[in-house]
Amino acid sequence: MALIVQKYGGTSVGSVERIDVVADKLIKAHQDGNQVVVVVSAMSGETNRLVALAQDVADQPSPRELDVLLSTGEQVTIALLSMALERRGQPARSYTGGQVHILTDSAHNKARIRDIDGSKMQTDLDAGRIVVVAGFQGVDEDGNITTLGRGGSDTTAVALAAALKADECQIFTDVDGVYTTDPRVEPRARRMQRITFEEMLEMASLGSKVLQIRAVEFAHKYSVPLRVLSSFEEGPGTLITDEDSEMEQPLISGIAFNRDEAKLTCLGVPDQPGVAYRILGAIADANIEVDMIIQNVSEDAINDFTFTVHRSDYARALELLQQKAEELGAKEVLGDDTIVKLSLVGVGMRSHAGIASTMFQALAKEGINIRLISTSEIKISVVIDEKYLELGVRTLHEAFDLAEDS
Ligand code: ADP
Ligand code: ASP
Ligand code: MG
Repeated sequence: MALIVQKYGGTSVGSVERIDVVADKLIKAHQDGNQVVVVVSAMSGETNRLVALAQDVADQPSPRELDVLLSTGEQVTIALLSMALERRGQPARSYTGGQVHILTDSAHNKARIRDIDGSKMQTDLDAGRIVVVAGFQGVDEDGNITTLGRGGSDTTAVALAAALKADECQIFTDVDGVYTTDPRVEPRARRMQRITFEEMLEMASLGSKVLQIRAVEFAHKYSVPLRVLSSFEEGPGTLITDEDSEMEQPLISGIAFNRDEAKLTCLGVPDQPGVAYRILGAIADANIEVDMIIQNVSEDAINDFTFTVHRSDYARALELLQQKAEELGAKEVLGDDTIVKLSLVGVGMRSHAGIASTMFQALAKEGINIRLISTSEIKISVVIDEKYLELGVRTLHEAFDLAEDS
């Protein structure tokens, strides 16, 4: 008998009608002879609603209390789904993260899963029940409720699949697989049959929110077969797998983008050891994550230093940089929070030259100015003005011939 873990995201459980559809799908999977664990998100819009409520009460709500609040969204869905299953005569049990011992560290709002005790779930499964688990949450060693960061239900599902040694982890969402780029931005995007863990990791870390990056990391580390499917229609979805020699190796597998970036520049800093550390040390001490970093020599012994941060950290980072600039005797500080990052991803890049120039030429033809560039083995990222995002995505999609054959 196979054991499968299915996960349904917010839109897939966004109404009572949708919860009924999910209940029917689960019963079918169970009747097909599988043991079934299901992880659900909060109903669509609910997590955002709770975040807004918290902000109405406090500018900077305490991370601990925010987690107590946010975890309630998923608790509503597990109870409703279990009721829908039982009404159909299917025994089921719902559990919060803490109740199935999803033990995390204590980093509220972005906790990492450390351990899961699958024994209670296994007992339920062996008794013929469907196990319904709240996504996105756990508890720390002291019993405090924690949450795993936005999109964290994906990670709950994969972690449960690893702990229970499931045969497959199926992520049901509102698109029918992983596409060459977000199909909401480029309708001609093509669904991929398969994508490697490596490429999916890059896509997720560069902004494709179809899977939370930690879910992909976990699946890779514990070799959990992972599939993305639609909860709205039947289909094979996209399998995320290890690279194998039989896989077609397209040059570029996808285009990712991130709208949440902001750019800061310190002009005219002295070209001396320790300057980068003094600037970025202050940023790191404020717990602000830095993404791209670029330094170039502008004149003799004078450098320009540029880096990007998450847009929500922009104001704070700018303030800190202004202080540092004064201390260092820099010329000027510039900032821009209307930029986005656009990235090309593909393992085929390793063995092919000329991808970057094709990319830059295509963007230039459309008059899109590139502000920053960074590359690694299987990706090239550029920072551009946010108003060119859609045009940039479609231009690259066309230039690299990624569309559906028609
Ligand atoms: P869920 O609530 O089910 O977790 P999400 O909104 O988190 O769903 O993720 C699904 C969304 O991810 C899609 O609706 C799509 O707009 C977006 N997306 C971004 N990049 C891609 C991609 N490359 N392939 C498919 N979907 C993508
Ligand atoms: N409900 C959480 C969110 O909206 C977790 C998830 O859906 O994965 O981010
Ligand atoms: Mg999601």
